[in-house]
Amino acid sequence: MATLPTYTFNPGPAAVYPELRQYLTDAFEEGWLSAPHRGERFTALVRHCLDQARAKLNIPQDYTILFTSSATECWEILAQSLTPRRSFHLYNGAFGQKWFDYARALRPGCTGLRFDINDVPDPATLPFNPEETDLVCLTQNETSTATQLRDSFVLNVFNRLGPALLAIDATSSLGGVQLKFIKADVWYGSVQKCLGLPAGLGLMVLSPRAVARAREIGDKAHYNSINSMVSNMLNHQTTHTPNVLGIYLLSRVLQAREGIKVIAPHLQERAQKLYDYFEQVQPLGLRPLIENPEARSTTVIGLQGPPAVIDEVKRRARDEFGLQLGSGYGDWKTTSLRIANFPAVPDAAFEALVQFFEKVRSEEVVK
Ligand SMILES: *Cc1c(COP(=O)(O)O)cnc(C)c1O
Repeated sequence: MATLPTYTFNPGPAAVYPELRQYLTDAFEEGWLSAPHRGERFTALVRHCLDQARAKLNIPQDYTILFTSSATECWEILAQSLTPRRSFHLYNGAFGQKWFDYARALRPGCTGLRFDINDVPDPATLPFNPEETDLVCLTQNETSTATQLRDSFVLNVFNRLGPALLAIDATSSLGGVQLKFIKADVWYGSVQKCLGLPAGLGLMVLSPRAVARAREIGDKAHYNSINSMVSNMLNHQTTHTPNVLGIYLLSRVLQAREGIKVIAPHLQERAQKLYDYFEQVQPLGLRPLIENPEARSTTVIGLQGPPAVIDEVKRRARDEFGLQLGSGYGDWKTTSLRIANFPAVPDAAFEALVQFFEKVRSEEVVK
């Protein structure tokens, strides 16, 4: 078996917290792997997990938190339960595009607008009619292109919604960015990115307005209709046997972590240092994939360069430093790499990463 890298910068599934080894043992010994999901012990765990999520992620008290199996499942739930007519999708990469595709497969009237990866679109000119649109859909952090929409943009869209609801894919920022939950109606993400956990659990966060809208629409035709999920969650239960282990691990990780107020500025600072380094030094010609600083993600850093350099850097980082870099995605697969700046990736990994680039750069100068 090949040796495992010391650190992984894969943007998902991503680095997990080392404490997970202990939490997994605890879960086994405390009997969570066979705990009944309608019993009092489980509902107390859910209550604790939701309290931790509110406290550590700053989720408002009046917002409802639901468990799903993934972010992908959320795409389908939103089309089924909150989109009787159509949604409008603004996107610049593969995840936003997939959301649009899944929504359109169920509701053919859905519309979308693709924007350039270096653009910050003008919220005033988005082509949707608020009276005829159920849901406006944004990908706050587009993992595939390493771009991010800032608070001010989301707020501007929120202020132009009229009766439409605002839904936000925050899969690779939930737990890494201070999201302003009150400025949208639906937020969702999965735990294998900024929450440092194994895959298999998603979170959906709903405003009171979104819960009320789901009730008016009245979808009950799916096992994970929002209405059924919300009424089960009133008793801290789920519609089906959930990922109890995942919920247990999430509650342990959230409890041990600092609040997002501490975590987010730290990630922002690490991101800024890396962007500055690649902009100024450009080791082997590698530079930020996103040229516009206003469009750059703080949790996923994209770099671009010639395919041969990308290949060599990935191979040598792994072989010589035990560092697993994330590959490019979609259109940028061969000409970019991605570095996850997630909370479970320690500062030591970033120090090793810069040392690696300094080493390959000094050899290049000698040649
Ligand atoms: C990873 C990711 C998804 C998909 O998450 P799953 O848990 O695999 O469903 C969706 N959107 C974004 C922005 C992502 O980064």
